[in-house]
Formats: sequence, structure tokens, C-alpha cells
Amino acid sequence: MPSQRFIPGIFNYCDYWCERCAFTLRCRNFQMGAELARADRDENDAPAKRDAANASFWTALAEQLNRPAGDWISDGADDFVLEPDPDWNEREKSRREAVRQHPLARMAMDYMQAVAQWLEGAQADLKAVADEMVETARRPISGDIEAEALEIGEMLEVLTWYHTLIPPKLSRALDSRLEAMEPDDGEPEELGEIRMADANGSGRVALLAIERSIAAWVRLRELVPAQEDAILKMLVTLDRLRAGIHLALPGARDFHLPFLEGEPR
Ligand code: SF4
Repeated sequence: MPSQRFIPGIFNYCDYWCERCAFTLRCRNFQMGAELARADRDENDAPAKRDAANASFWTALAEQLNRPAGDWISDGADDFVLEPDPDWNEREKSRREAVRQHPLARMAMDYMQAVAQWLEGAQADLKAVADEMVETARRPISGDIEAEALEIGEMLEVLTWYHTLIPPKLSRALDSRLEAMEPDDGEPEELGEIRMADANGSGRVALLAIERSIAAWVRLRELVPAQEDAILKMLVTLDRLRAGIHLALPGARDFHLPFLEGEPR
């Protein structure tokens, strides 16, 4: 029976920002990582424990492979097709290519690259702002300079985190949507619905990442006016992406992710 503690598949519809996640206790992925980290911290016997755990994993796997085929292939498995299916391979390949060439996927990739370049190129302006803040902080009436400096750091953190998340989440959403729309070849109807739900859930994560990035850029524009032109370009791209997702994945807009967005109001 599946554990009640963990929310099944929660890590498929999150932003992987575990440090800021309110569901670490209910995420199997996080807990597994935490267990490994705990083992690593235990300097005295971590290597021994890890080696023992790894050894038993490989032994168990080898035992699986050594079992006679009849043990793990159930009765009736004669119908089981182990041969590669060229039609399926072809469909997968052309769907992957369609996703890669999709205007939204390309726009998301362009945005990711533009942010990476901006993060590198804006260093000088950001440093100038930081120096100015330090200078202002020395004056008797300096306002809340420290809070502003911290805010710049936080906005950069948000942008850095999300710029690499948007392309894969969007690609997954587009892929699942295309798969859901493929001609019916006798698969159960529910499968199409599951794929569309996956498309909408992944699209919603991408939208959330876009909306949070927009908010961060808007605030950064106020804090670092020297970067206004570059920031406006980012905002235009993100706005187009958002509008494009609303059109291509209308279900993503209203999809609700309680573990990322809280309970609906
Ligand atoms: S659900 Fe939370 S803890 Fe789990 S992978 Fe996503 S962000 Fe990390």
C-alpha cells in the first residue's frame, strides 16, 4: 500500500526549489536526498554505510537478473513484445522534434540564454549599485539600504532559479499535450486525460515560474535603473511566453498546484 505520508509525484509539478518548499516532509524525492545527506554528514561511518548500502543494492539487482525469466515474466507474457517498435520510435522522435521546434519552446530557450548572458554582463552595474549602497549606508540618514541590498540578492536568486526551469517544464507540457492529441490507437481513454492533465500541470509550473520572474524583473528594474532597457526586453519576452502558453495550453491557466500556490482562495 502506498505511503500516506508522501504526496505521489509531487516532485513532477514543483519548481525544485527545495530550500523554499513547504512540502519537504511530504516529498519522497527530498526525503531520499536528505537521508543521503545525513549519511554523508556522519563522518565516522558514512563511507562504510554507503558502501554497504551500494553493495546490497547491486547484489539485489544481480539476484533479479539471475532469476529465471519465468520468475519475473508473468503467465501470458508470450504476448509481451520485446522487439523494438519502429512506429512507436518514429512517433516519439517526430514528437520530440516538434516540441524542440515549437515557437514557445524556442522562445523559452532564447530567454534562458538571454538571462544567462545578462547575469554575466550586468555584474558591473550590480557592483556599482552595491558600492553606492555601501557608500549611502555610511551617511547618517541612509534609509533601509540593507533591506534593498538584500532584495536585489533575492530577486537575482528568483531569476537565476527560474530561467533554467522554464524551458524543460514548457517542453514537457508541449510534449504531453501533443501525445494526448495523437490519434487513438486503441489505448484506454483515461490515458489521454492523464497526459492532458500532465500537460496542464507542467504548463502551470512554467506559468508560475514566468509570473514570479516577471515580478522579480519589475522590482529589479526599480532597484537597478541602469539595466532598464535589458530588463524591459526580458519582460516583453516573458509576457509573450505567458500569452503563448495561455493560447497553446488553455487548461494550464486554471490548473491549481496547492503545494506551490497554497489553497485556492
Ligand atoms: S516538492 Fe518540494 S521538496 Fe520535493 S523536489 Fe519539489 S521543491 Fe523539492
